[in-house]
Amino acid sequence: MPWYARGFWFPDRYVGLFRMCIFCKIANHQMPARWVLEEEDVVAFHDIHPQAPTHILVIPRKHLTSLAHAEQQDEALLGKLMLAARRVAKEAGLVEGGYRVVINTGAGAGQSVFHLHIHVLGGRSWGWPPG
Ligand code: 5GP
Ligand code: ZN
Repeated sequence: MPWYARGFWFPDRYVGLFRMCIFCKIANHQMPARWVLEEEDVVAFHDIHPQAPTHILVIPRKHLTSLAHAEQQDEALLGKLMLAARRVAKEAGLVEGGYRVVINTGAGAGQSVFHLHIHVLGGRSWGWPPG
């Protein structure tokens, strides 16, 4: 996120309002993506740098900076996101082999795009603990 989009004097909702983030732009078709799902509140598209044979990102249209920025009023939206991830995984044929659902939250946990997104990864084997 650019420096001017940080801090209390520039609330997160303005980032979404002015579509200053790449995932807002993708969700609004202002940037191309390989689309998987398009719904009223939730969209999904393939990750540009896949970390598995199948790597899909499921995001809310609403700009939420991270899971840590979600509030009680986002309860239904978070439910929709999770169910969309489930559906995307099923339609991609990942159920039998298993799949991983990841939400990196904060730069320290590897978040690099500051618009909440669920990674749905499948098609290979996984280690635990995660790296
Ligand atoms: P994070 O690191 O924030 O958990 O995940 C961000 C993901 O977004 C990364 O896996 C990265 O490859 C992906 N990504 C970054 N920019 C773009 C883009 O412009 N288009 C698409 N489709 N994926 C992107
Ligand atoms: Zn956004």
